Parts: sequence; structure tokens; C-alpha cells
Amino acid sequence: MEASKLSSGRSCSRGNSLGVAYSQMSRTAGRANVSWGFALSRKACVVGSGPNGLAAAIVLAQAGLQVDVFEAEPTAGGAARTMELTLPGFLHDFGSAVHPMGAGSPFFSSLPLEDRGLAWIHSPAPLAHPLDDGTAVLLERDLGAAKTSLGADGNAWGQLMQPFVERWSEFAPEVLRPVRSIPKHPWLMARFAMNALLSARTIVRRFQNERTRALFAGLAAHSFLSLDEPVSGAFGMLMAVAAHAVGWPIPRGGSQSLTNALCRYLSTFGSKVKTSSRVESLASLSHYDLILCDVTPRQLLRIAGQRLSDSYKRQLERFRYGPGVFKVDYALAGPIPWKASECLRAATVHLGGSFEEIAASEQAARNGRHADSPFVLLVQPSVFDSSRAPATKHTAWAYCHVPNGSKVDMLKPVEDQIERFAPGFRECILARRVFSPAELESMDANLVGGDIGGGAMDLCQIVFRPTWRCYATSARDLYICSSSTPPGGGVHGMCGYHAANMALARFQAPVNVPVQKGNKRSLHLTRH
Ligand SMILES: Cc1cc2nc3c(=O)[nH]c(=O)nc-3n(C[C@H](O)[C@H](O)[C@H](O)COP(=O)(O)OP(=O)(O)OC[C@H]3O[C@@H](n4cnc5c(N)ncnc54)[C@H](O)[C@@H]3O)c2cc1C
Repeated sequence: MEASKLSSGRSCSRGNSLGVAYSQMSRTAGRANVSWGFALSRKACVVGSGPNGLAAAIVLAQAGLQVDVFEAEPTAGGAARTMELTLPGFLHDFGSAVHPMGAGSPFFSSLPLEDRGLAWIHSPAPLAHPLDDGTAVLLERDLGAAKTSLGADGNAWGQLMQPFVERWSEFAPEVLRPVRSIPKHPWLMARFAMNALLSARTIVRRFQNERTRALFAGLAAHSFLSLDEPVSGAFGMLMAVAAHAVGWPIPRGGSQSLTNALCRYLSTFGSKVKTSSRVESLASLSHYDLILCDVTPRQLLRIAGQRLSDSYKRQLERFRYGPGVFKVDYALAGPIPWKASECLRAATVHLGGSFEEIAASEQAARNGRHADSPFVLLVQPSVFDSSRAPATKHTAWAYCHVPNGSKVDMLKPVEDQIERFAPGFRECILARRVFSPAELESMDANLVGGDIGGGAMDLCQIVFRPTWRCYATSARDLYICSSSTPPGGGVHGMCGYHAANMALARFQAPVNVPVQKGNKRSLHLTRH
């Protein structure tokens, strides 16, 4: 792969040239066993093995560097891990469970992950949203079917989503990179921006039916923003467009399967994740030519110490974290007894009732309060993946948004919300594991105060994430590659992908030349 094609990457504004064409990546991917010349001479390390850390490590390894990955926890994957959190034989996703952005990620799609054990499972419908009348709005994956099922709002829904669904392969790379990049498809992105900058409340004015408004509220609530804030509508649109374009699949066996596939692929380059290896100070990594950190600004400040300039430190200190989550994992005796049985067609179920109720819940969390009736996101993976639980038994996870660092026990409000739409749910519970924000953070240091998105995704922090430098820091050989960088939270690896490409470009990686037998050439990276 030719380094000059990698991108300039000096700043976000030039990020449109970031990255190699994804198809080129795939070609390189097929040549993983070739040993590259300058791999012998230059070393990089990645701190943290979440999806973004692994993506960054793969990009660096593909470019020929020797890469070590240091992971604090005993298992790789960060918030994309699967564990027996309740009873033996019940596999729970510690963090991410449903992966529209993983399946639709331009970078992950360029890797041979299916050959390394990844299999996506699609529930018949991506999403169900039950209501108090005992029915549920189902978001169908097929856009035509969705338009039909949304009745009077079908056309308005189609007009909003169709241009981006039809052009997902152009849209996804645009939307999953720094917003300050010059778009390659300006008309498409201008059309997106026209709606995306609006609040969810403004967008739903085009729907006649309360059911459609409620559905969109649940989608937009993935933003962790108040539904009255600008860009909250963008999240609703993105989640819906992804549902129609790629679905909302779950990996067979849990999100750990995605992590394991990434680790296996990384190992074909001779790189390994060193688990139970928390990096307390970057001073111990001074022998590496490049360091990429899959950590959030607060951690970077702690481990980088004197390597950062005072002004950059001040910028990082100003970074704001978003609301946290209060999460519960369940081992269940049977499937959830939904009043609206069609909820069993979807892996993801949004529990919160009407647009106004969900808006009130999200506004509370955003403003440091706890909603009495919180919006709950629930995933029931074992209905579609029998590997998650013993025969006839089931698993589920549910969480609600709470103020960052909240210590309030939200178990009763969460279970009351589930009971509202599935009476008898509590009787199905064999065991549960509750995660407060602090407990989540204790198992993944990036989940600061329970924030699962790596920092608030409001307009300002979408543009300057985590600072105007994006992935770069004030130290030339040090980069940040977590979801605290563009494009932000979610399992897509695109933060790591772009960060690594920026690092490589600034480091002026040379052309990869396979080592010829008897002619060992060691090509050198030069700094510029
Ligand atoms: C409860 C929950 C539910 C979620 N649901 C979804 C979902 O359904 N779909 C979706 O797409 N996304 C979901 N997410 C979000 C998604 O998981 C994250 O956005 C994603 O994992 C971010 O990846 P990352 O690599 O930036 O960070 P992380 O996945 O958090 O990984 C960071 C890694 O760095 C390690 N680390 C930190 N500091 C150090 C150090 N000093 N030394 C060594 N290692 C260190 C951590 O241990 C961790 O392994 C969810 C997250 C949570 C917590």
C-alpha cells in the first residue's frame, strides 16, 4: 500500500483525503502473511483493545508496522465483550449488543472477519416499540415494507430515509468520519445536513401519527441528547437509515465474536493483544515510534503527563462527558412475555411509550435528573441466537440513561417500565446483574461516569472531538483513537481507522515492499 495514498491527515479539515479506498484495504488484507520490510524497523503500540483500538492496530499492522496492543482487562474488546455475568451457560454482552454500525462499517466490511468466525444474525425486524394499547410499532428492515406498515406516515418516512438508504455505500464513509472533512458527495451530505441539524422534535412534525413520532423518539434517544437539541434528529435518522440499509444485527455468540475475529485477523500480522496490562504512564512506552491511545481525554491526561503541552491539556480538560447508563443483565426462564407478541420479531425493543414521555426522560438525564419513568433500551439476543443461553432459557439486557456518575438505584424504574409492556416479566427472572455507572467504569475505564459514547455528542463536540486537532495531540508521536474522536460512539472501528491513517500519514510511512528472500530491505519511516 502506497503511503502517499494514505492521506494527509494533518487536520480534520483535510480529513476528506484520510484513508485508503476501502477496497484497497481488502486487497492488502488478503496479503496478511507477507512480511513487510519496514515492520522490522518500526514499532507502534495501541493502548486499549476496544473496537477502535483493534481497528487502529490493524491499520498500522497492514501498513507494515510491528504493533503491540496493551489491554488493562483480562479479555480484549472493551465494551464489545461477552461474559457469563449471571449464571453458568448464560452469555451476556457486557456492553454493545446490536451492531448496525459494525455491520455497516466501511472498515470492518473491508476485513475478512467472517473467515475468522464472525456471523451476523438479523432478527426479522430490527426494532420493536410497544405502546400502552397492547400493540407495537415494528420498524421493518425493508424500506418498502416499513413505508407500508407506517401507514399515513409511510411516504414522509420514505422521503426522509430513502436517499441515504439507497446510497449507503457512499453515505456511510461520509457520516463515519470527521464532520470537518470536505464531503466527497456534497449534495448527498447537504441533503442529510438539512434535516440532521434539526432536533428530533422538529423532525417528527412531519409525521401525522403518534406511533411514528414515538418510534422516531426512541431512535433519536440513542444520541443521549435532549430531543429538543439540534442534531438529535441526526441520530434518529442515522439509526433508521442503518436499519433499512444494513439491518441491526447481532453477532452469533455475542459481541465478543466481533472482537475475537478482529484479534484473529490482527494476529495474522504477528500482533497480539497483551491483556491484564494496564498502562499507568506512557513513559513506559517511550521505545515505540507511534502510540495510539484507545482512551478518553480524562485518562489521556492521567497517563500522558508531561508529554502534552499545557494548552493541549487545558483543551482536554474542557472535554465534556455525556449522561451515563444504568444497566441490568438478565438470565430468564423463558422469552419475555410481551403484551404485543410481535415484539418477539425484533432483537431490540424500545420501552418508553410516546414521544413526549421519551423526550421527558431524555431531558431529565441530560439535565442531571432521574426520570421517574425512564426510556429503557432492551435487547433480547437469545430469541435469535440459541448459543446465548441453555435450551429454553433466555438472556436480555436493559439500560436507561442517568446523569453522569449517578449513584441512584434505577432497578425498580427499569423493571417497572419492562413490566408495563410485558406483565409477568419479573417472574421470568432467574438471576440478574446490575451495573451502576461506577461498576461499568470499573470493568472498562473508558466508560467514564457510565458514559458509553466516549463523551457528549452535542453539536460542539461533534465538530471538535475531543479538540480541534481530532486524533492528533500536542505530542507528534501520540494519537487518540477512541470514541472520544470522530465519528464518536458505537462499534464501527472508524475512530481507530481514521486515527491510525492520520498517524501513518504524518509519520510518512513508505511503500510496503515485501521482503525478498536474500534481500532483506528495511524501509524507514521518516518524521515530517
Ligand atoms: C452498556 C453498553 C451498551 C452499548 N450498546 C451498544 C450497541 O448496542 N451498539 C453499539 O454499536 N455500541 C454500543 N455501545 C457503545 C460501544 O460499545 C462503544 O462505543 C465502543 O465499544 C467504543 O469503542 P472504543 O474502542 O472507543 O472503547 P472501548 O470499547 O471502551 O475500549 C477501550 C478499551 O481500552 C482499555 N483501556 C482503557 N484504559 C487503558 C489503559 N490505561 N491501559 C490499557 N487499556 C486501557 C479498556 O479496558 C477497554 O478495553 C454500548 C456500550 C455499553 C457500555
